Amino acid sequence: MDCIFCKIINGAIPCTKVYEDEALFAFRDIQPAAPVHILLVPKRHYSSLADLTETDAPLTARLLLTAARIADAEGLAADGYRVVTNIGRDGGQSVAHLHLHILGGRPLQWIH
Ligand code: AMP
Repeated sequence: MDCIFCKIINGAIPCTKVYEDEALFAFRDIQPAAPVHILLVPKRHYSSLADLTETDAPLTARLLLTAARIADAEGLAADGYRVVTNIGRDGGQSVAHLHLHILGGRPLQWIH
């Protein structure tokens, strides 16, 4: 599959890795929108959050819990941070592999 995040996960494209376990992979965004900008992805390819089904509930929970743990490890917990996932064209999704953005290190404005 010609997916840039699958290639990052399998090492074909370099990245700055932040975290990895058997199901998840996290790396720094190449165009950071905040002092800390990490992408957390499932190793299994899903196009977006909209691809998940009931059977993926454990993975979904694990994604969110791991995002919070990574934010904590990055020193973001005290001042706060944002976890967001973009879905489809109107959601501003540019890479069709489910990913959570973990953003922090400065006050964030809401996106209208
Ligand atoms: P989205 O627009 O929500 O689909 O987010 C995709 C994100 O992937 C953007 O913030 C990009 O900067 C980021 N990105 C694209 N290519 C790479 C790459 N090779 N390494 C790290 N981040 C990337």
